[in-house]
Amino acid sequence: MDSELLPLSKHMPPAHPFDDDKLREECGIFGVLGVADAANFVALGLHALQHRGQEAGGIVSHDPEQGFNSARRFGYVRDNFTNESLMKTLPGPLAIGHVRYSTAGSKGQTAIRDVQPFFGEFSLGGAALAHNGNITNADALRRELIERGSIFQSSSDSECIIHLMARSFQKSIPDRMEDALRRVEGAFSVVAMTRTKLIGVRDPLGVRPLVLGKLGEGWVLSSETCALDIIGAEFVREIEPGEMVVITQDRGVASHFPFRRRPSRFCIFEHVYFSRPDSILGGRSVYETRQAIGRELAKENPVEADLVCPVPDSGTPAAIGFAAESGIPYAMGIIRNQYMGRTFIEPTEQIRNMGVRLKLNVNRALIRDKRVILVDDSVVRGTTSRKIKEMILDAGAREVHFRIASPPTAWPCFYGVDTPQREKLLAATMSEDEMREHLAVDSLKFISLDGLYRAVGEAKGRDPQSPQYCDACFSGDYPVEPSDMIEQGFQLKAAE
Ligand code: SF4
Repeated sequence: MDSELLPLSKHMPPAHPFDDDKLREECGIFGVLGVADAANFVALGLHALQHRGQEAGGIVSHDPEQGFNSARRFGYVRDNFTNESLMKTLPGPLAIGHVRYSTAGSKGQTAIRDVQPFFGEFSLGGAALAHNGNITNADALRRELIERGSIFQSSSDSECIIHLMARSFQKSIPDRMEDALRRVEGAFSVVAMTRTKLIGVRDPLGVRPLVLGKLGEGWVLSSETCALDIIGAEFVREIEPGEMVVITQDRGVASHFPFRRRPSRFCIFEHVYFSRPDSILGGRSVYETRQAIGRELAKENPVEADLVCPVPDSGTPAAIGFAAESGIPYAMGIIRNQYMGRTFIEPTEQIRNMGVRLKLNVNRALIRDKRVILVDDSVVRGTTSRKIKEMILDAGAREVHFRIASPPTAWPCFYGVDTPQREKLLAATMSEDEMREHLAVDSLKFISLDGLYRAVGEAKGRDPQSPQYCDACFSGDYPVEPSDMIEQGFQLKAAE
């Protein structure tokens, strides 16, 4: 079999069964200009962004003598980009990289040609590009480009940007990129490079994050600030929604706003789950925001109980906030095993919930005879929540109360997050009461959308006329119409 077309499972480190019931961020991007062996810094940055995509990673570098070089690999960054001989093939003071979960068009099966950064050789010189987000009119653009003679190398929506750049008549690569991105709808944070420039762009709504850092005399662009910390770079600022920065070694950062300015709609789920808790978003640590979500959740949905336990690890800061607000003791009632993969054969059918038990174990001595509040970040399909509840009851808990640090996830995301089809989302087909019955727990409560907005710093909650964030997976209010999906039959929420 062509190694490029191996099924995903053959290339990949095994996914954690526990994580199958989570939404998954699809990409992390990172770029460095102006330091020796920039690719080594990019590898470290991508390692810190691994939570945003574990399927594959790639790096492109440029060296004045050796030109552009690239490496793309399946699997974790630490298993590939720590290889000395591989890293020696990526010399130079300028490099960008990408980690990926899966891009539009190739879910379930991946090919090395879908792994970014993408590279294009133009008459003006080469350029490489890494994209986080999802282009919602990619099918229409691809059809148009193919009709006009473009030959696509991958199934990725992001490749449209390279072809649009190739067709632009502008005289510089940043100008061509600007041209191309004006045709693109949806969510995009882009890190790109030419022979001498590092370029960063965010879509006009700023759905996905991108930050600027300083590393000695050099510059860094990253999806999140946690990846600046790992290389000792200083956080300078967030790239603003609709902003394009073109960075050169001698002139530093040149910024402008090429798109029509619109109120921003940053992804509110980044605060809840996607971003690492040690990152800074909107001037506040994600960890603190998640604690605030837990406090708000406790105010909205109090219940008498003996213990507040997080569903680790993503529920932990919210559980700490919930415990602080409610005065109910916090306890690590569930312990997560960090060192597992889906590599074991289930010995007997009697071992129920093997997948979850490989990952999580109940701290029985703590749980026995207790009324337990379990705090989790979200409920997607509900399969894991059910299994965790059974484990807690098997350990002798008297009552189980679920408190969820996000509103019910009832709509799919089309902006760069892998979501099950709408009918697979528990909240799309059941009311809150029906979900409680389905999970067979004593109570189930979600934070309200207004409560979530308050927790992320909007004192008056969500402005229904002009929402301050993208919250489409909770509200069905899509800030950019997902035109490809509508063409495929997706039904938007009926106007109220
Ligand atoms: S739909 Fe949900 S996950 Fe997707 S960008 Fe909007 S808030 Fe984020």
